Amino acid sequence: MKNETMMQYFEWYLPEDAQHWKRCKEAAPELAEHGITFAWLPPAYKGATGIQDVGYGVYDTYDLGEFDQKGTIPTKYGTKEEYIAAIKAMQEQGIKVFGDIVLNHRMGADEQEKVIATKENWGNRFQDISGEEEVEVWTKFTFPGRKGKYSDFQWNWTHFDGTDWDEERKEKALLRFRGKEWDSGVDSENGNYDYLMGDDLDMGNPEVMKELEKWGKWYLDTTGIDGMRLDAVKHINFEFFNQWLGKMREYKGTDFFAVGEYWSPDNNKLMNYLNETGKCMQLFDVPLHFKFFDASHGGGNYDMRGLLLNTLMQTDSWHAVTFVDNHDTQPGQALQSFVMEWFKPLAYGIILLQEAGIPCVFYGDYYGIPHDNISPVPGLKTLLKLRKDYAYGPQHSYYDHPDVVGFTREGMPEKENSGLALLISDGPGGSKQMYVGKQFAGKTFRDAMEKCPEKITIGEDGCGTFRVEGGSISVWILEE
Ligand code: CA
Repeated sequence: MKNETMMQYFEWYLPEDAQHWKRCKEAAPELAEHGITFAWLPPAYKGATGIQDVGYGVYDTYDLGEFDQKGTIPTKYGTKEEYIAAIKAMQEQGIKVFGDIVLNHRMGADEQEKVIATKENWGNRFQDISGEEEVEVWTKFTFPGRKGKYSDFQWNWTHFDGTDWDEERKEKALLRFRGKEWDSGVDSENGNYDYLMGDDLDMGNPEVMKELEKWGKWYLDTTGIDGMRLDAVKHINFEFFNQWLGKMREYKGTDFFAVGEYWSPDNNKLMNYLNETGKCMQLFDVPLHFKFFDASHGGGNYDMRGLLLNTLMQTDSWHAVTFVDNHDTQPGQALQSFVMEWFKPLAYGIILLQEAGIPCVFYGDYYGIPHDNISPVPGLKTLLKLRKDYAYGPQHSYYDHPDVVGFTREGMPEKENSGLALLISDGPGGSKQMYVGKQFAGKTFRDAMEKCPEKITIGEDGCGTFRVEGGSISVWILEE
């Protein structure tokens, strides 16, 4: 029995030094020591802006830092050999490695094409705001630097539904190509949220499906990854991953892990997506992230009784990957909604020590973010250790007070001395009586976070009166 713990092993502002795969390799033993069992690595293929590309500006998915394209052989993170070496090093430490899979769009085409397109309203993609007209678009991908190695497939406008730049008029506009419809079965924001950025793949085109399947198998064979983090799933036909992941699992095994990024604070949308896709993947618990964000900005007035309401971990814990922040929510990024510093240890206490969900630790929280002078989250390594050694057994929840809430874990015999009692407060400090288990009767507990100096003795009924300071977290464990 072990607790799975994921780590997102990158943040947006890593140095553009092609050294990150080496850092991954070197960090593997330490990560395993801290209980990390899953590592999500950034997109490994060549992006449109070369060595500066974080990886989401996908140019050539067959170029994992091997070909002289976009002004560089390595990607921002290093070369193909270094990527594969990093994956192996992690796997040797018992860590499963997940690739970051971006299939929604392409960028940085090699050539332009003249096509007929209609301009669409950004706010309502079903509304045409022009007639058909000829435009010049960057949609032809010939990959001259790769010269057909691994695949001779070349992309052209027929493989896309639309794009957002007319070179002819030097104009930013949402362009839908003649004969194309936005893929149905996507998020309904803006009428239809198929289009996100770049050249949007037409998932209804059989040539696209065939190529993505071929590439997926090549990527699995080449890298040996154990799972995938799927980017921007709300912008891709909801039927697509059912089919595509099905093919990948036929090839690699049914336990091949997948977690999707469906970016919405509305838990109903996540539940709908899970149902529409036959629950073929887990989802990041975005609603929970926004709960943490709101609570951290609540100035101590957030009603903590509702902290977990309408989150994925509560409605379908089996499919929830819980997290506090990521590369998109960090300061300066597209979905900026960074949880405030004081609340971070409280949020990590919840996701790491509760029963529900697989927690994902953000690189920027673990190491800090030098670009923005952000320090590592204090106590995070202690919480990871607590997850590894103490967070086992039945859970009892006490979300019953506007400020002071918590839960206990009873522990399990296979993990000696396991069990804990967590209390957090967004307002003044306080105490709460909680049941931690009769096997602890007469034993003393101490605060592993070292915020409260006193010891607490568990009563004959298996309950203790645990304490937390204001705006803080305490995690009480058996004193050995
Ligand atoms: Ca799309």
